Amino acid sequence: MKGRTEIAELGEFGLIDHLTAKFQNKNKSTICGVGDDAAVIEASKDKAVVVSTDAMLEGVDFDLTYFPPKHLGYKVVTKGISDVVAMNAVPEQITLSLGISSKLSVEFLDDFYEGVEFACKEAGVDLVGGDTSASVTGFIINITAVGRAKKSEISYRSGAKEHDLICLTGNLGASYMGLRLLERERRVLQGLGDAVTPKFEGYEYLLERYLKPRARYDMVESLRKEGIVPTSMIDITDGLASEVLQICKSSKCGARIYLERMPLAKQTTALAEEMNIDPVIAALNGGEDYELLFTVPLELREKIVNLGCIDIIGHITAESTGAALVTPDGSTIALQAQGFTPKTTAKE
Ligand code: ADP
Ligand code: MG
Repeated sequence: MKGRTEIAELGEFGLIDHLTAKFQNKNKSTICGVGDDAAVIEASKDKAVVVSTDAMLEGVDFDLTYFPPKHLGYKVVTKGISDVVAMNAVPEQITLSLGISSKLSVEFLDDFYEGVEFACKEAGVDLVGGDTSASVTGFIINITAVGRAKKSEISYRSGAKEHDLICLTGNLGASYMGLRLLERERRVLQGLGDAVTPKFEGYEYLLERYLKPRARYDMVESLRKEGIVPTSMIDITDGLASEVLQICKSSKCGARIYLERMPLAKQTTALAEEMNIDPVIAALNGGEDYELLFTVPLELREKIVNLGCIDIIGHITAESTGAALVTPDGSTIALQAQGFTPKTTAKE
């Protein structure tokens, strides 16, 4: 008789490796399979199509107590196209499959699709299909996103080289703090407790970052205009620490990230202080930032700095040095990956 192995023993990434290890790509058109943000498929001599799929489950990835359907529709599109963008490709199409529970109304789904439509318009993406079925376990959403790029301009997780600069768009931890704020106010939002209105004042940016994040397709365009092709790239969905480790694993390298260079928004540090949370933990392990982490050769430093909206937070080192966070006093702390944790629960 086969024994029983708990999934927790393997962890999320261990489980994916375990399940997919036997699969070998047989088609010449499969340029890159499992293991990057999106699969890469040959389209023509010099062009490729990239494809990514993602699921969002009620109670695990979102809570309808505080997630407005319009925002949920928007965020699902972001989640889908962010993986395409992380390959340095331009997202062009999505398909959307839904498992719908009887709790949901047509009006709810209209609002959800309004959010989907808004995000599609903004990103210049077409909704080209999907599937609709019933669900007995809450609202289930699956998105597939498709994009295009020149083969020579695709950024894989595996291309980082020693001495490359580690670059980051936007700031970190705001989405996680937005989630913590919504969790804190949950009883009020459910109409329980004494307070009538939730206390969100001064933290609107955090709510927007959690409920309505925008994928950084603008960066693909900015990088292209400057003629920059990142040597590696990944989007931040599981927290900076996990993504740096993914790049290191795929590129067989180490990394140094400098704590004082961690970009944090004012509202992130303010709420973290109020809630007694270390904002660095929110930045490292929070996730769902949908920002881009990428590497470029050292000689592109000036071009990156001139772009204005990118922070250089560290550099790539030899594999033997591992991936570490450097504190202002010069000591190093090894970066830890996140486990298989439901996304709506506290992670620190
Ligand atoms: P992301 O967070 O960027 O969406 P994941 O961490 O979910 O990526 O997945 C990592 C890689 O493993 C991706 O290349 C993804 O396509 C692949 N993958 C994830 N789950 C499965 C699965 N059940 N079967 C096959 N491939 C999978
Ligand atoms: Mg990704």
